[in-house]
Amino acid sequence: MFQCTFSIVDNVRDGLVIWINHKTTVRVFKSIDFDYKEPSCCRTFTVAQVAGLKPKDYVGKIQAKVVWLQAASKMVNVHGDMLELKECHVADDTKKIRLSLWEGLIGDVEEGVSYVLTNLAVRKGGELYLTSTKNTTIRVSEEEVLVPPSVAMLRLEVKQHEQEQEVEQEGLTTVQGPVCGVKLADQWQCSSCHKRQLTFNLKAINHRCEACDLLQRVGSYVQAANGTVMVNKGDVTLTLKLTSTVLMTYLSQNDLQELLSDVQLVEEHFFEVGVFENQYNANNVVVVVTTGNV
Ligand SMILES: [Zn+2]
Repeated sequence: MFQCTFSIVDNVRDGLVIWINHKTTVRVFKSIDFDYKEPSCCRTFTVAQVAGLKPKDYVGKIQAKVVWLQAASKMVNVHGDMLELKECHVADDTKKIRLSLWEGLIGDVEEGVSYVLTNLAVRKGGELYLTSTKNTTIRVSEEEVLVPPSVAMLRLEVKQHEQEQEVEQEGLTTVQGPVCGVKLADQWQCSSCHKRQLTFNLKAINHRCEACDLLQRVGSYVQAANGTVMVNKGDVTLTLKLTSTVLMTYLSQNDLQELLSDVQLVEEHFFEVGVFENQYNANNVVVVVTTGNV
């Protein structure tokens, strides 16, 4: 056994990291009392146990059912970055809690479905809530999580995040007009952790996920696309941003997913639509593509 002085750096990806520097000293002991407690980032919790954690604690794993899902996502400003956010409520037989889903995870949950969620973090905004992290994974649970009516009926409020400045919740503008330009780019997401890959070679056989390190066949990555669309509105040309969530929702609602085999087909589709109607917010981010008059 030994005792030494060091600094501990909390690192989500690698767990706790011990940093040794020039002030570090080491003393050797013959025996030492040591009470090991598994860090919260490795443990499985019930929702009631999560409620006993502190803000900024990590949650290794929960198994819960999505009992409510916000209808539309919104764009929020987090330290200068525009990120997509959707709220939901998850519950098990012990309690219900709010869960904020960010970016690529938004499309992974449906109301009424049970999931195993890993690598979440605890935040406080009014009451404690959970948030996804860059390492969060979500998979459908094999067994259904039963939520008793007494838990399902608990009221939770959707409150604004403390650190985030809400950009535009209401005041969406609807535009109807012909598309005069469109530029979309492919995106590839890990089928396990759903993280977007920054470099992806379609011609390779395998690809190691940049987020979860899982080596997988290139074909098992999920394709998505995002980009910008320019719409004529009278004399004005609006340049609007299409997030992958909004675009994928539009394609699946209109049975157009096969166009993704070549992203240019999606671009051409928008020209063929003729009149393009959508709602966008103050940051020119399209929130809903409402019609496609093919
Ligand atoms: Zn991954």
